Amino acid sequence: MMREVRADVVTIGAGGGAYPAAFRLAKGGRRVIMVDPKGVMSGNCLAEGCVPSKTMRQAAYLARQARQADGHGFSGDLMPDYERIVAYKDSVQERRYRQHARELREAGARLSLLKGTASFVDPHVVAVETDDGEVRIRAANIIIASGASVSLPPIQGVELCVTSHDFYALNPSVRRLPESVVVIGVGYIGLETATLLNELGSRVHLLARGERVLRQADERLAQWLVESLDERIELTFGAAVQRVERTPSGLAVTYLKDGREERLETDLVLAATGRPPVIPPGSEAVGIALDHGRIVVSTALQTSLPHIYAPGDVNGRSMLFHSAVRQSLVAANNIMAGDKPVDFMDFDAVPTTVFTFPQIAYVGVTPSVAAARGVRLVETAFSLADDARAQIEDEAQGEVREFFDERSMRLVGAWVEGGAADYLIGELAASVARRAPLRELAELADQHPTSAEAIGKAARALL
Ligand code: ADP
Repeated sequence: MMREVRADVVTIGAGGGAYPAAFRLAKGGRRVIMVDPKGVMSGNCLAEGCVPSKTMRQAAYLARQARQADGHGFSGDLMPDYERIVAYKDSVQERRYRQHARELREAGARLSLLKGTASFVDPHVVAVETDDGEVRIRAANIIIASGASVSLPPIQGVELCVTSHDFYALNPSVRRLPESVVVIGVGYIGLETATLLNELGSRVHLLARGERVLRQADERLAQWLVESLDERIELTFGAAVQRVERTPSGLAVTYLKDGREERLETDLVLAATGRPPVIPPGSEAVGIALDHGRIVVSTALQTSLPHIYAPGDVNGRSMLFHSAVRQSLVAANNIMAGDKPVDFMDFDAVPTTVFTFPQIAYVGVTPSVAAARGVRLVETAFSLADDARAQIEDEAQGEVREFFDERSMRLVGAWVEGGAADYLIGELAASVARRAPLRELAELADQHPTSAEAIGKAARALL
């Protein structure tokens, strides 16, 4: 039997684009229902994304440290055990699921989570397919935060490939370290997984369809990463994968390169060819505008229907968990303001880290973005080869680079190659968010001995 319930706000999805808004709005007195087929809060980031992949990366980092320990005066071997690494990953995911369940309980009766898949009936009603039949929710506002999901390349034998889900989901299907792996795709998921498997001891071959990696990143930065990859990793550009087949001993990948067929024998093939947005059924029919499979949003996160918002991966603007969180809060603030925008998303202030070995991170306007926008930049850098902390850790490579708008000499962009890029980009992103003047960066008393010193030093090089 169909039931109909009312809410102030319904969120489609319960991931990073949904729950920050849901909590905020419930705190502000609204009655909010989150809908997600997983039946748990936190979306793909915890299910198969950031958290499990970084837990696996930590193991790879320790394996690397164990190898480097010799140079620091240690002797003896420490060998990674993949089964136990996966078990630890699962335990971190389970711990965070328990935490989120507690947070949801503590949020009180105004916030609830309904397990099911939502589709639009009309601009104010969604139908949810639950285990107990259909529930219709009528709401004043709707937040579409249905995220993105893996897409498989249209090649023969694609069913023989694994995806990031098979590595990172709870109880993943990949349970032993492959001796060799071919990775199709050189976006951040392909590169991160490739470098972590390499650190753990797999033989890795990356296949890139085009002539560069990381299409979203600045070309110079991406090029540095390519040049800095471990020499054991093979990387072939201009490789159009044709098919994957079973062989007596494993798998074979056939690709076209310069018009010739090449073949690689391997244990495992990872397809990492992108994550297109997931659009809830009925969205277009109720009048929500799409562009190239993404929901069109303003910087207030409103869709073409002003009472419907679409924060997170589903709008394709910047597909990162922390971006979704901030977008979610922008949506919540604008809902509380009665759909008359008071809060706006600054996409230029969202940092991106690619958690490869070595890492890179970037934020805001870098030269490729500046060229596209017709902005002129003044740039300055400090080399991490000369950085105390990088030397202490025997990771003295890369740089911190800052980009100032030529007219105002305010910070509009930055990147970090190598080192603690994931941490350093936080301070740089905070400065980009404020468009900090050069002098402000130059006057920072950055902590010694941490690589944050490079931030002030790069700025002082211009004075
Ligand atoms: P984001 O961080 O952009 O919100 P996530 O991938 O973390 O993206 O979260 C999206 C969530 O939306 C996932 O947990 C997914 O199960 C859920 N979802 C996708 N489609 C629907 C739908 N039609 N109804 C309800 N939930 C959905």
